Amino acid sequence: MKDNHGRTIDYLRLAITDRCNLRCHYCMPASGLDWLKRDELLSYEEIEQLLPLFSSLGIRKLRFTGGEPFMRRDFDKLLTRVAKSNQFESITITTNGVLTAPYVPLLKELNIHSVNLSLDTLDEKRFAAITRRDVFPDVMRTLDALMAHGIRTKINAVIMEGVNEDDILPLAMLSKELPIDVRFIEEMPFNGRGDRHAVKWNRKGLIEALENVLGNLMPIGTEPNATSENYSIEGHQGTVGIIAAWSRTFCGTCNRIRLTPSGEMKTCLYGRNELNLGALLRSNASTNQIAEEIEQAVLRRKKDGIEAEAARTPLEESMATIGG
Ligand code: SF4
Repeated sequence: MKDNHGRTIDYLRLAITDRCNLRCHYCMPASGLDWLKRDELLSYEEIEQLLPLFSSLGIRKLRFTGGEPFMRRDFDKLLTRVAKSNQFESITITTNGVLTAPYVPLLKELNIHSVNLSLDTLDEKRFAAITRRDVFPDVMRTLDALMAHGIRTKINAVIMEGVNEDDILPLAMLSKELPIDVRFIEEMPFNGRGDRHAVKWNRKGLIEALENVLGNLMPIGTEPNATSENYSIEGHQGTVGIIAAWSRTFCGTCNRIRLTPSGEMKTCLYGRNELNLGALLRSNASTNQIAEEIEQAVLRRKKDGIEAEAARTPLEESMATIGG
């Protein structure tokens, strides 16, 4: 599938639930969200109806995300069926790691390509302050298990002014001790409150902070559609990276579309919902009709996230309702 800007679309980010067992400040209010009801969620049957269609349209990479995907009952069974169906060249997962450790052997067995672990601090107290939950040891158990099973692991860390700047170095140093990619993500305004503030820790600020303490960062080649700019550091087993998710410097090679837990298709993270695939399925639309609708939505994409945001109502949703 190609979009109206000549970009190949071969990556689907599939959020299977909006629920989460953390309450990160930059994602949702302490009280949580007005969670989707069971019948508002795409069922596993509906997801498994849609995935072959996406595969037939050229989707090669599938990411499971949420909310927290392991919060949804029997996710491991869905994952097993999809992985064994061999429809996708790579399957990846984004998780906060709280419930994940017991499933790591299965992820290895299913040849899951990589796991993105959301971790904004290595300080237990600060973890509890950021996430409003006291489950840091569970997350570190997951990191240990991922390392023990040799699963490619990427850390996603959001650095917030006055909150966890002191974690930039400790997190980066994880890449010295472990063969992992530590990525620092610019904070995005998907906090469920519509709250927008200047982002101090943007791409420039993060690179300066890293170079101040680690010396020169050596740029390394990344995958063609990567959002992360990766750097190697002498003596480090892993890498550090910057994801300019607010500055949106990588839209020119964007290859991804998203499916929300309720079946809304988004052709840009910052854009509006383009198509409700759940409603189409429930109206017994034919596979061809759904495929046509998906292709048409991809052919009306905005050129970048800035344009997509400008073309919609102000951002007020939580990242948990989109899947990152
Ligand atoms: S902001 Fe939108 S267009 Fe840009 S990379 Fe993200 S999803 Fe793609």
